[in-house]
Amino acid sequence: MNYRSYTLGNFRQIPQIALLTEEEQFVIEVIGTVLPFKVSNYIIDELIDWNNFAKDPFFILTFPQKGMLSEEHFQKIANLIKSNADKATLKKAVDKIRLQLNPNPAGQEANVPELNGVRLNGIQHKYRETMLFFPSQGQTCHAYCTFCFRWPQFAMNSFKFAMKEADLMVQYLKAHPEITDVLITGGDPAVMKTKFFEHYINAILEAGLKHVRTIRIGTKALTYWPYRFTTDDDAEDLMKLFRKVADHGISVSLMAHFNHPRAMETQAVKEAIRNLQDAGVQIRSQSPLLKNINNDPAIWSTMWREQVNLGIIPYYMFIARDTGAQDYFAVTLDQAWRIYQKAIQKVSGVCRTVRGPSMSCAPGKVQVLGIQKIHGEQVFVLNFLQGRNPDWVGRPFFAKYNPKAIWLDELEPAFGQEEFFFKNANPKLQIV
Ligand SMILES: *Cc1c(COP(=O)(O)O)cnc(C)c1O
Ligand code: SF4
Repeated sequence: MNYRSYTLGNFRQIPQIALLTEEEQFVIEVIGTVLPFKVSNYIIDELIDWNNFAKDPFFILTFPQKGMLSEEHFQKIANLIKSNADKATLKKAVDKIRLQLNPNPAGQEANVPELNGVRLNGIQHKYRETMLFFPSQGQTCHAYCTFCFRWPQFAMNSFKFAMKEADLMVQYLKAHPEITDVLITGGDPAVMKTKFFEHYINAILEAGLKHVRTIRIGTKALTYWPYRFTTDDDAEDLMKLFRKVADHGISVSLMAHFNHPRAMETQAVKEAIRNLQDAGVQIRSQSPLLKNINNDPAIWSTMWREQVNLGIIPYYMFIARDTGAQDYFAVTLDQAWRIYQKAIQKVSGVCRTVRGPSMSCAPGKVQVLGIQKIHGEQVFVLNFLQGRNPDWVGRPFFAKYNPKAIWLDELEPAFGQEEFFFKNANPKLQIV
């Protein structure tokens, strides 16, 4: 299959779009003007069940939906489009709305490191062992998730994290022997041609950095364009490269995003998984928990079981990030834990490698371990899976139970304490 994508400019050319009413098409236009929209022909032809598209998880995952903006914001943009407002007026209104959608959550700017006084804009180094690398050619995706937490990278250039220079990355790695993992991320780095993967990965191999043990690739391609690993022109070269990395004694881990078990059913995805595994790649899976997509324990237990059958290691269950269309997808911490607890008890130990539900927030990745009553007080039991300060990891702490909370910043310490123990730590000082 040859890759083809549709965006705001040409989505009316999608053959199946005729199944939508004019009004439904207009909703796509309005929401797609504010939030990035792009869908691939694989999703359209092989994943979406068009007989029931309005409820289809892959339709909701990729096509803009009415509830993704507040009524007020929706009307504002709808009126401007209907009245044929000029481009500048529309852009101004769109920018204003975007800035209200928390475009850069969890203080990501604070993760951008410096080397000899130069800010390395394509790198984030928040957790001691793992460096994120944002190659500039990988800052888009085969299709855009409607829950995207990196949407400003596609919609607002000023928030873009990206870097071209393999050399600076290697210098940074040399200066930081504590880093064991390089996580190549985006956008979706799998949109890059294999020659760019070769450029960056060979630079790491040639530098002979003994401390780098794992190269991870965070990608949604198994769900949105599995042909990247099968029939694309340079798929075979990519497999050769992965094999070469493995031969150097460095493990390659593909961090796959699977939001729904149906994404693992097609012939194309099964072949892609097999090719990657034949090239020595370990595949791990992670997904946010999303209302309207997968807020049902049975979906998760099925997904984890299916993944283990395919040789994929369940890794993270995330809580939807506080950005973009969060209200549409938000699941409370209380519901998230209940869904996790119901799902995990239904699978055997081999599936229980998944951790979560977890929030990626400014101080770290915070897991909701449970809800308990302790000496008469109802509390959330929380735990750092990752921390800006590594010493925070694995120290359970307590917050007052709040059934409405959807994010850490809505929680207060339990047992009359004034502050959480990590509150006043200066994040800049933590990575040494
Ligand atoms: C999640 C994340 C990582 C990777 O954490 P692991 O627990 O090792 O998978 C690294 N850096 C940032 C900023 C992250 O959010
Ligand atoms: S794969 Fe990631 S960066 Fe790309 S659209 Fe989805 S959430 Fe956003």
